[in-house]
Amino acid sequence: MFNIGINGFGTIGRRVATAIQKQKDMWVKGVASTNPNWKTQDAAMQLPFYISLKNYGNNDSEDFKNIKEYFLKYGIRPKGTIFDLIEDVDLIVDATPKDVGRMNKDKIYTKKNYLNVIFQGGEKNGVARITFNANINYDDAIGEQFIRIPSCNTTAMLRYLKSLEDIAKIDNVFINLIRRGADPADPEEGPINDYVPSEIPSHHSEDVIAVDSSWKGRLITFSVKVPVTLMHMHNVIATGDFPCRDKILDAFYDNLRTIVIGGHDGIPTAAEIFEANKREDIPQIMILEKTLYIHNSTLIFSSYCHQEADVIPENIDAIRASLGFEDSLESVNRTNKYMELENTKKTLETYFPVY
Ligand code: NAD
Repeated sequence: MFNIGINGFGTIGRRVATAIQKQKDMWVKGVASTNPNWKTQDAAMQLPFYISLKNYGNNDSEDFKNIKEYFLKYGIRPKGTIFDLIEDVDLIVDATPKDVGRMNKDKIYTKKNYLNVIFQGGEKNGVARITFNANINYDDAIGEQFIRIPSCNTTAMLRYLKSLEDIAKIDNVFINLIRRGADPADPEEGPINDYVPSEIPSHHSEDVIAVDSSWKGRLITFSVKVPVTLMHMHNVIATGDFPCRDKILDAFYDNLRTIVIGGHDGIPTAAEIFEANKREDIPQIMILEKTLYIHNSTLIFSSYCHQEADVIPENIDAIRASLGFEDSLESVNRTNKYMELENTKKTLETYFPVY
């Protein structure tokens, strides 16, 4: 049984905790975060709770005593600081905001004699030697002390590009990412009435190349941020030598972490898909079947990804790889099974069938 701690209990940290609790070979020993709010109350109701002090103080510090009082007012009784939690676990999943993970690495994690850590996509590539995708480089990550999970967009691209590469000879890929402006429970991000384009290429292609260097010189991404909270949308144009439409759809079908969305009337919107799934998380990448179009040596299709959810299965597989579990296929199967990905797939394929 792997003992896991989580530092940062926001959009990603909460979901990783839930997914770990569903597995049979790992459990959450404790959760740490900085300040009391409804998310920390939620954490402390189900799991031992620890304080991460922004100035990296320990539980002898004046700051700890002061902030502990503040937590107690929320009904949260912290067991100590993040420094206590790391002594009790094999691995920490760091799900703190962008760039905080790198500082935590220097100030907290490397203070323990040996601690494995999974970082998220807000950290730069250099935070870990391996940027991870379960279908692509699990074996390289076995026993690796530090692993980075790339962003939600990068995880999505890696999934559908891998399925395509297995059945086609691809020359170049151009992807326009229409990025959600903020997560639903994030009142501080935006835009709320604008388009925010990226430079070309955007950083997303670099991130894909960090996992699979064969894309170097063949993948160009560019993005625009828009006032939507539901999902990201990718419009993909690929050139190369492709098999027929059915074979391409079959390649997407075969991966439990991808769902092919058809539909009775027109192309389902992101909001419709969410409603159909009772507004629950969708950890799979969704390929919109009615957008898939082949013109000579060019393939075009669109895809949605639920940004809050698609990186969660990769976090679980990265935990196993980092802690030395050697069978990548078995890890992916366990993660899929205990996260019940088959149910999400069945639900959405029932409401939005492909004829
Ligand atoms: P978030 O803001 O929702 O949550 C971060 C949590 O960390 C908050 O609860 C905050 O209180 C806590 N925190 C802040 N400073 C801390 C510190 N020093 N120590 C401990 N806890 C601290 O952020 P998020 O959206 O969950 O993002 C976390 C990471 O995951 C980022 O690297 C982000 O880029 C990446 N990511 C986010 C998404 C997404 O859609 N939200 C998708 C993929 C990857």
